[in-house]
Amino acid sequence: MNVLVLGAGQLARMMALAGAPLNLKVSAYDVRSGNLVHPVTLEVLGHGLENGIAGADIITAEFEHIAPDILSTCQASGKFSPGEEAILTGGDRRKEKALLDKAGVNNARYHTIQNREDFDTALSTIGVPMIVKSALDGYDGKGQWRLKSLDDIEPTWRDIAAFLQASHQGDRQCVIAEEFVPFDREVSLIGARNANGELEVYPLTENIHTDGILSVSVAAGENEALQTQAEAMFKAVADALDYVGVLAIEFFDVNGTLMVNEIAPRVHNSGHWTQQGAEVCQFENHLRAVCNLPLGSAARIRPTAMINIVGEVTVPDEVMRIAHVHWYDKAPRPGRKIGHINVCADTTAELSIILKDLASLLAENEFPALKDAASSLSK
Ligand code: ATP
Ligand code: MG
Repeated sequence: MNVLVLGAGQLARMMALAGAPLNLKVSAYDVRSGNLVHPVTLEVLGHGLENGIAGADIITAEFEHIAPDILSTCQASGKFSPGEEAILTGGDRRKEKALLDKAGVNNARYHTIQNREDFDTALSTIGVPMIVKSALDGYDGKGQWRLKSLDDIEPTWRDIAAFLQASHQGDRQCVIAEEFVPFDREVSLIGARNANGELEVYPLTENIHTDGILSVSVAAGENEALQTQAEAMFKAVADALDYVGVLAIEFFDVNGTLMVNEIAPRVHNSGHWTQQGAEVCQFENHLRAVCNLPLGSAARIRPTAMINIVGEVTVPDEVMRIAHVHWYDKAPRPGRKIGHINVCADTTAELSIILKDLASLLAENEFPALKDAASSLSK
């Protein structure tokens, strides 16, 4: 079967690697150049969306910031999963918030802002501290403003007004103000849903961010109460979208109660641990779901952690003695994810020890959350 992925980054690459044993031939459509490329070698295979669609049995996406005309063309082919509506929803916080409300899942109070009047209404209804996010094109904490005190109001509004004015999205762009959630931890749930509505859901992952970018994800302990809450919200959101494929939901854990932060209609960075830590990884399960094949077990086979390799950092080969290294064949640039490291162990205590060993091989400033993750596991 031929699968076309919209987007030619590391997620398409890892889908291609996971699909090969199933004879699923994955190619990628680079939305910027219009080229059809091999997701692993990046060899150019052809050009143009129409050609890509013609050669594909199934179309899917590795990211949500895709022009609406591309999405509608794919939708019209009848081959697209999870489909236009799911991708548009993941890429637009307005639609995303409306979906969360419709699905009846707990999420932060918000107000949509198009002009100064809306901003003032947000300030009076939500108040400070407040976080403001762009509706479109946000990722890795980009397109966000944090108001911590009343002194931040005027300078932040000037920034937001300039941002809206300069947006290439024109009137489609706006910002959303959200109440600042005093969370204890951030966790995410990743799962696959097939066309019959069957689910395979991975255990919750705890995520540590540094400067808005995911640093470390840990899938170790069990928390049945949180898992039950998360799975109920996952089912509500996935059913509301009649979703087919892998879906990720990011949550805030506030004193044992989960609140949805955002959704990602795709395989997700916080699910990379499943490559070594689960029966069937998220990339394979995504392909299984969109190709209408039986879903694989999402059970965790052992405590596992994932550490992102971000920017210009050094990873000595010695790391391979204790961990699995996944490179994306990308040139290092500040803030750019160029690979990740998966670490597995038989027990949580052992995982903490191996993470400490790993930390001793890596520079602390290059892998800032690693030591914290290791010590929080040993508690
Ligand atoms: P991603 O790379 O996950 O797509 P993003 O840029 O889309 O990130 P969010 O996940 O919404 O943005 O926000 C980035 C981070 O900012 C969150 O992981 C969280 O740490 C913090 N954050 C976001 N919203 C809130 C909120 N309402 N209250 C407190 N912190 C928040
Ligand atoms: Mg996020």
